[in-house]
Amino acid sequence: MTKPGVTTRQVHADRLLNHPTDGAVHASTTNSVLFEFEKTQELVDVFQGKKVGHVYSRSSSGSVTALQNILTEMEGGIASVCFATGMAAISSTILSLFKAGDHIIVSQYLFGNTRSFMDTLADLGIELTFVDVTSIHDVIAAKRANTRAVYAETIANPVTQVSDARAIGKWCEENSLLFMVDNTMTPPPSFDAKAMKASLVMTSLTKYIAGHGNVLGGAIIDMGTFDWTGFDNIKPQYQVADASLWGITQIKKKGLRDMGATLSPQSAHLISVGLETLTLRMARSTENALKLATYLEGHDHIERVYYPGLANHPQHYIAREQLSSYGAILSFDLVPGIDPCEFLDQLKLVLSATHLGDTRSLALPVASTIFFENGQRERARMGITETMIRLSVGIEDIDDIVADFEQALSCLAQ
Ligand SMILES: *Cc1c(COP(=O)(O)O)cnc(C)c1O
Repeated sequence: MTKPGVTTRQVHADRLLNHPTDGAVHASTTNSVLFEFEKTQELVDVFQGKKVGHVYSRSSSGSVTALQNILTEMEGGIASVCFATGMAAISSTILSLFKAGDHIIVSQYLFGNTRSFMDTLADLGIELTFVDVTSIHDVIAAKRANTRAVYAETIANPVTQVSDARAIGKWCEENSLLFMVDNTMTPPPSFDAKAMKASLVMTSLTKYIAGHGNVLGGAIIDMGTFDWTGFDNIKPQYQVADASLWGITQIKKKGLRDMGATLSPQSAHLISVGLETLTLRMARSTENALKLATYLEGHDHIERVYYPGLANHPQHYIAREQLSSYGAILSFDLVPGIDPCEFLDQLKLVLSATHLGDTRSLALPVASTIFFENGQRERARMGITETMIRLSVGIEDIDDIVADFEQALSCLAQ
């Protein structure tokens, strides 16, 4: 049989990958923190990694493992670890793999809280260079003798810069550098992490994958493309038999077991249910985003629209070539003199809320909220204007979304 399509695989993944008992179509959700062993030797063997099993649910449980199996299959990787939030996945992974004196080349266009976390890394002695990841030349120019990794997002938020992942991945492979990609904006199958030679994919499950604004989660997926034997931060005790698992083992032990931001079994269940409709929601949101971007672009009160699906977007050609979806985040600048908050108050269907990747369309003023802490200079460096509005386009009927903007913009004209 030929390999089923991605939607088919997502809908049936829990049943087929996790083999729930009694005819159940979802993996069971356990409330047990502890796991009993009839023979103590078995407990010892699990502790020593000689046998697969669960001993304490901070480290692992059947429910979270079930979601990890689905995520690994979906990304085409070799192993995954889930965390309580996307930020926990990012921070725990980086803290478990790097040490003072290491150098990481980092995108200058980052999710606000990831950018803020980078300051913490700098305080700990990890060296960082922030570069424009839409240009491979800027990335290459930042390399030093102690460079270990490159960290980028597929499509950045709110300005929607698209990183040149194919060129960065190829260069990282040639230079034995870890390529870490935050794929939250372009969940599978939009971005082919393996073809782009990503080493580790990080994602906020809270966003498109769960999709309904009712659960937090994060994950890291090892794509199996990186040679961990050349990465000398792996502790001897995690240099297990299969070298492809060295990295994920250290992330599991240091990042999850020791740092402890574990995903709850109930959350894992909610995320796996949301995931069943991921491709449908993503396709609809993306289609809506392109239509809305086109509408807004033509309006007198709108100065500029930022959306990779528009032909005049600076990285439209990269997005077209490297992504199978332009995503559903778009931002725009109102013409000078219009207050973003006053405008947003006119919207009736679209919610004023921070969050993205939801079924509902959401909007917020960027400079005064999610990038307020960064200050005007840093915002300018990221391409964020002071009046920018960010939209996360939902799955509503597009005519209703456009009508809402039409009436809100017409209020301004009066
Ligand atoms: C939301 C988000 C995160 C953080 O995820 P949480 O689940 O909210 O912690 C990280 N990266 C990107 C690109 C995001 O949009």
